[in-house]
Amino acid sequence: MTAEKMAVTRSTFDNVILPVYAPAQFVPVKGKGSRVWDQQGKEYIDFSGGIAVTALGHCHPALVETLKAQGETLWHTSNVFTNEPALRLASKLIAATFAERVFFANSGAEANEAAFKLARYYAAKRHSPYKSKIIAFHNAFHGRTLFTVSVGGQPKYSDGFGPKPADIVHVPFNDLAAVKAVIDDHTCAIVVEPIQGEGGVMPATPAFMNGLRELCNQHNALLVLDEVQSGMGRSGKLFAHEHYDVQPDILTTAKALGGGFPVSAMLTTNEVASVMAPGVHGTTYGGNPLACAVAETALDIINTPEVLSGVESRRQQFVDGLKQIDAALDVFEEIRGKGLLIGAVLKPQHVGKARDILNAAAEHGVMILNAGTDVIRLAPSLVIEPGDITEGLARFAAALKTVL
Ligand SMILES: *Cc1c(COP(=O)(O)O)cnc(C)c1O
Repeated sequence: MTAEKMAVTRSTFDNVILPVYAPAQFVPVKGKGSRVWDQQGKEYIDFSGGIAVTALGHCHPALVETLKAQGETLWHTSNVFTNEPALRLASKLIAATFAERVFFANSGAEANEAAFKLARYYAAKRHSPYKSKIIAFHNAFHGRTLFTVSVGGQPKYSDGFGPKPADIVHVPFNDLAAVKAVIDDHTCAIVVEPIQGEGGVMPATPAFMNGLRELCNQHNALLVLDEVQSGMGRSGKLFAHEHYDVQPDILTTAKALGGGFPVSAMLTTNEVASVMAPGVHGTTYGGNPLACAVAETALDIINTPEVLSGVESRRQQFVDGLKQIDAALDVFEEIRGKGLLIGAVLKPQHVGKARDILNAAAEHGVMILNAGTDVIRLAPSLVIEPGDITEGLARFAAALKTVL
C-alpha cells in the first residue's frame, strides 16, 4: 500500500521550495474546526482561516463527505465535456446573485484574469478597440499573473518582470474625485475590491461605491468587483457589495468558495457574456467536478441565514475582545473591516512590528495574519466557536505583551 513517508521538517522548506514565501516556523499537520496541530502535536487556534479560505473551519464534516463521495465518482473531464457539479454550482451562484453566467477557474488571479480580459473584449466588440483603459486603485491586490499584478496597486509586485500590460491607471482608493479626473469614454472598466484585503482591510465607503457605479454608467464602462477575499459570507452577506446596494457587471470570487479546495468563479450578466464564443477563453481544470462538488456544499452551508447572521455576532465578540486588549495595552489605532474580515491597525509607535506579533502569536498557540506592516488581520472560520474566540484572544493578548 503506501510506502513509508519521507521525514520532512520546516528546514526542508529552505532547500526544496522556491523562496517566494517565508512560512511560520512550525508545520501544521492536522486541523479540525478552528483548531490546528503541528508536527510536535502543539495545538493552535486558527484566526487566519488559510487567508479567508477555510470559511467553514478545517475538515468540516459535510465538505469531507462531499469530497469523499465525489472522489469515488468523477474527478475530471476537462471542458470538452460538461459535468453535473459545475452545472449545479453555476445555477446556485446565479440564483443567489446578480449574475446570469458563470466561468469557473482555479484561483483568484485566474478569475480576475478572465474578468479583465472579458472587460476589454466586451468594450472592443461593443464599442471600440481603443476602449481599453482600466481604472484601479493604489494598494489593491488582484493576484499574481502579469495582468493581475499590473492592475493591482502595489508596484513591488509588478516591477521586474518586463513590459506590463498597458493602459492601466491607478488612483487613491475611496477618492471619487480622483476617479472622475481620469475616467473617460476610452475606459472599459473600473476594478475594485469592496473591502481592500491585502491593502490593509479597508472597506470602500458607500459614497465611493455608488459613485463608481454612476461613473461606469456615464462612460459605458463595466464595474468589476474583486470579491475574492470579501465574498462567500466573509462580510456577513454572501457578497460584500450587497452592503452597498451596488450591482456589478462582473464579480470574481475564489478564496472561501471551495472552503479550502482550489476553485474560483467569475460571474457576469448575459449582456456582457454575449460577446464570448467557444475558444475565446478557457482553462483545463476550471469547473472540475471535484472542485465544484465541494464548492456547492460550501455555498449551501454558507448561504444560510444561520451562518450569515452568525458572522455579525462573532465579529462583535472579536471587536469587544480586541477593544479590551487595547484598553490594557494601548496598541490599536482602530479596528476596521466588515464581518469576519477584521483589521486591527497598530498605533504609530508599533508600526513595523506586525511580523514579530505574528511569530509571538504562533508561539502562544494562535494563528493570525497581517496586511502590510501596520495591520493585524483576522479572517477566521465563519462558524468559529465562541469559546475558541475567547481562548484565541487570550493567547493573542499574552503574545502581544511579549512584543510591545
Ligand atoms: C487572494 C486574492 C487574490 C488572488 O487570489 P489567488 O487565489 O491567490 O490567485 C485576488 N484578489 C483578492 C482581493 C485577493 O484577496
